[in-house]
Amino acid sequence: MTSIEARNEKLAQTLINHLKRRHINGYYCPTAAQAVKQALQLIPTGSIVTWGGSVTVRDMGLTQALIDGDYRVVDRDLATSDDEKRRCYLAAMDCDYYLTSANAVTQDGLIVNVDGRGNRVAAITWGPRNVLFVIGMNKVVQTLDAAIARARGIAAPINTSRLGTDTPCNIDGVCHDCLSAQCICNHIHVLRNSFPSNRHTVLLVGENLGY
Ligand code: SF4
Repeated sequence: MTSIEARNEKLAQTLINHLKRRHINGYYCPTAAQAVKQALQLIPTGSIVTWGGSVTVRDMGLTQALIDGDYRVVDRDLATSDDEKRRCYLAAMDCDYYLTSANAVTQDGLIVNVDGRGNRVAAITWGPRNVLFVIGMNKVVQTLDAAIARARGIAAPINTSRLGTDTPCNIDGVCHDCLSAQCICNHIHVLRNSFPSNRHTVLLVGENLGY
């Protein structure tokens, strides 16, 4: 085991203990492939499953595994119009499992996300019976300030570059605290405690996933 792998395991265990205090289930998976297996074990077959705009859950193969498996998938990626997308967002509010990553998580278990439309943070807040976060250890930071700084200073400018939005960070890669019409940081969400207990589960993955 490398020093990075050993540190990831120790840090993940610390974080999982803090998540438990916050009534959030936590698991550590050293690899993305193990995380896919863990997720499939956690989600009962037949469940209605959907996801947010997460690069992580797509790139690791989790969404495809669910599509290929015995699940009732609401696949927003198949929507061909704004109206269809809206129906997917609304269906997500009544699903059994909502999959997402996070922009950052603090060592003591605060989970931070910024969102443009707000459908993702809405689902994290209320609606889906269960929310499953998949978070690479590259997103673990020390403090809430650092988590928000990561979300806005790293994750958001990469996302605006990916999405091609008309925002200043898509020009120079730096957050300008903009109020652009296409701003993707309209909502800043901090999950600090799960209600009902264990509605939220976190899979920490010992690989760099997403951004
Ligand atoms: S410039 Fe605007 S869209 Fe870009 S990261 Fe900052 S607040 Fe978000």
